[in-house]
Amino acid sequence: MAATAPESHLRENPFSLAQQQLHKVAETFGIDERLVNVLQECKKAVEVSIPTSLDDGSVRAFRGYRVTHNVSRGPSKGGIRYHPDVTLDEVKALAMWMTWKCSLMGLPFGGAKGGVSCDPKKMSRGELERMTRRFTSEIINEIGPEKDIPAPDVGTNASTMAWIFDTYSMNKGHSVLGVVTGKPLTIGGSLGREEATARGGLFCLESALEKQGRSMEGLTVAVQGFGNVGSFFAKFVAELGAKVVAISDSTGGIFNANGVDVAAAFVHKRSGGSLSELKGGDHITNEELVTIDCEVFAPCALEQVVTEENASDVKAKVIVEGANGPLTPAADDVLESNGVLILPDVLANAGGVVVSYFEWVQGLQEYFWKEDEVNARLNEIVRRAFDETWATYTDRKVSMRMAAYGLAVQRVAEATVTRGLYP
Ligand code: NAD
Repeated sequence: MAATAPESHLRENPFSLAQQQLHKVAETFGIDERLVNVLQECKKAVEVSIPTSLDDGSVRAFRGYRVTHNVSRGPSKGGIRYHPDVTLDEVKALAMWMTWKCSLMGLPFGGAKGGVSCDPKKMSRGELERMTRRFTSEIINEIGPEKDIPAPDVGTNASTMAWIFDTYSMNKGHSVLGVVTGKPLTIGGSLGREEATARGGLFCLESALEKQGRSMEGLTVAVQGFGNVGSFFAKFVAELGAKVVAISDSTGGIFNANGVDVAAAFVHKRSGGSLSELKGGDHITNEELVTIDCEVFAPCALEQVVTEENASDVKAKVIVEGANGPLTPAADDVLESNGVLILPDVLANAGGVVVSYFEWVQGLQEYFWKEDEVNARLNEIVRRAFDETWATYTDRKVSMRMAAYGLAVQRVAEATVTRGLYP
């Protein structure tokens, strides 16, 4: 039987969508066309072949990418994704969003992203380690603490970062803590980094509820994706009294109008189980989860899950974008006209890069902070960015996404103008 390629989750070219968003922002905020011409492109994109020995003795050459979008405000920063659907244009879009995210948070970083087209779920730990180490050596001249600093993303985790850190350090001849973030605690990771993206999302949701005069108690929440971001987000909101009515992973989801047992799901998932096996509710598909009856929907998996086709069926009145790019621009328009408050990715999932920044600083100083200190500083930065975005949203009568992107792009534009064009 002929093998068929799995259908990609990307329905539209993500880089074209990111460029479209930039043009819309530039129009709304009157950003000089000459600057837009610079900002709509990525500074550098490297594509490498990663020959890797597999456990059965065969060799497979995986395709990997590392893209830097912009470095006007500092070295570039962004995660590395291992997923079968990874393409150069996806990595470029994610790199551009990282530039806006770091800028909105006021971090001294530009944006980057990396990815390898592979299926990590079908690879052994040994295969993943060999592939990661070879990928690191292929991009060793691109990364570095003053240059470009990777972190985990979909399909990668603290172990992946440990291999990158070790490979890079072995080649330099000494430990270079600042080369990656999201490292294990035993080798210079930061307390609070693992939960940071979800915690930042939580702070944004709490801030939005405060503005609306509502509370977390009894709030119905649906969470798509139960990995790093989604599982901690569901756990945090449940612990604060929200009713998490639906959760899902790539195998599907579970719905219970009285609330899913998030703590049990967390333990089940950590022990290697999938949510489709979980009891205590009705099994639903990921498509059904998007339109489930709830007050808050948090897409925390992949891009383009809400499009023009299903946007009008979304029941939630608040969307917390844990994932990057989960809504297409066309979906945005439909949701906005239906009065849905969208807390955009560059704001709602920026907690991860904020604590990555803390990890980088701690690594450079070789002085490590207490967890309370990390969380308090994260709170301060995310809430400040939320308040600035909210002020622009109300003053300029634009969407929260437009407000967040507007603030972010303006800051990058200012830095670019201040530095001047080389030569
Ligand atoms: P992860 O690999 O830990 O988890 C991804 C989750 O999504 C898994 O539960 C997986 O089963 C699920 N999933 C995969 N395909 C799916 C599908 N088609 N439908 C529903 N669920 C599916 O990844 P993560 O680090 O939690 O990242 C999730 C999203 O958050 C990504 O968009 C990522 O770019 C973004 N993000 C992550 C971080 C971070 O610190 N990890 C920071 C900012 C943004």
